[in-house]
Amino acid sequence: MEHTNGIVIIGAGLSGMTSAIHLLTQGFSVTVLEKNSFPKHKVCGEFISNEVWSYLNLLDLDIESLNPTKINSTFLSTPSGRSIETNLPLGGFGISRYTLDYYLYQKVQELGGVVIQSNVTDVLFSNDQFVLTTDDNQNYTAKVVLGSFGKRSNLDLQLNRDFIKKKSPWLAVKAHYALDLPADVVMLHNFEGGYCGVSKVEDDKVNICYLVRYSSFKKYKDIADFQENVMATNPHLKTIFKNSKMIFEKPLTISQISFEDKPKIENHMIMIGDAAGMIHPLCGNGMAIAIHSAKIASELTIRFLQNKITRIQFESQYVSRWNKTFRARIQFGKFLSKILLNERLSKLVMKSLIAFPFLLPFIIKKTHGKPV
Ligand SMILES: Cc1cc2nc3c(=O)[nH]c(=O)nc-3n(C[C@H](O)[C@H](O)[C@H](O)COP(=O)(O)OP(=O)(O)OC[C@H]3O[C@@H](n4cnc5c(N)ncnc54)[C@H](O)[C@@H]3O)c2cc1C
Repeated sequence: MEHTNGIVIIGAGLSGMTSAIHLLTQGFSVTVLEKNSFPKHKVCGEFISNEVWSYLNLLDLDIESLNPTKINSTFLSTPSGRSIETNLPLGGFGISRYTLDYYLYQKVQELGGVVIQSNVTDVLFSNDQFVLTTDDNQNYTAKVVLGSFGKRSNLDLQLNRDFIKKKSPWLAVKAHYALDLPADVVMLHNFEGGYCGVSKVEDDKVNICYLVRYSSFKKYKDIADFQENVMATNPHLKTIFKNSKMIFEKPLTISQISFEDKPKIENHMIMIGDAAGMIHPLCGNGMAIAIHSAKIASELTIRFLQNKITRIQFESQYVSRWNKTFRARIQFGKFLSKILLNERLSKLVMKSLIAFPFLLPFIIKKTHGKPV
């Protein structure tokens, strides 16, 4: 069966839902195709930079009602436990993806958006129109398609995107814990081969989420063995694991996380969120970038559908605004992760930061944008 639509969004994650809400509040009709059901836990550090706080308010989203923790400082430690704490220049908040994504999903429906549980398997563009096919053999036509299908999707293969052909060394693990921890701090503890974020989300739960190179991880029997023998050599992580009790039945894991460059337009589709490019999680602003890129894409979609710009202008203005807003910080995030994962360099940097603590907020600012 064929369904005709103005705007179709592929993927109901943060960027997809934010775009849907933006466009719905401006009077456009939107169909979102999402392969999973809600609510659902996701592997994520769950710290959101205040860069997008005002924008979320502008969209009339009552994030406050979800009871997020307010975070205004950061604590950084090296694998040997040397540490430094400083204020976060912009600050942020802690909220689980289980709660946030579900809230946005409900909001889209309240605003009259259509969310269909379906896996998009193909997207074609011809005669100035998209035709999408789903695994339940439905076809959707659309004038605009926003590709918000996250860091790794079956569609990346279908679109023959370069990054999907390369192996990525990263895997990530996340779970919620009961742990006595100050609510206003986001911690970043380094260990051999990776780094671990620890911070509170709503309802006093603590999220522990780490990214690690597969080559470090594979030498150990399982997650527990790795945490005990590698991560716990950092004394801060040792104390954290000793005093915490996991709330999840078992941790969530994902692999093949890629930080490669990705085209911002694919077959005339506007790519947003992680599908357009991913910043190293240590910067703590992938979600802010996802939301901010959704704002840029939505604004240009409106101009295009109102015939104020042509499709060529739509695409080129999106690429140029994306690059101007995000490229430098994504590059800086890559550079920082290389330093942190090099034992000698990270020791040197930490020594300098302890001697000159005012440098840390400066470095953090380089990875974050200005409030939207
Ligand atoms: C280990 C780790 C820790 C992180 N920690 C933080 C942090 O603390 N702070 C922060 O700001 N960012 C963090 N991030 C980054 C953050 O999680 C992402 O930047 C953010 O989720 C991107 O949102 P998105 O909308 O692009 O993708 P997602 O939220 O992943 O949504 C993509 C959606 O597309 C759907 N989908 C995929 N393919 C299809 C298809 N073919 N058809 C239909 N639906 C499809 C998926 O099911 C999914 O729901 C972290 C990332 C990782 C890996």
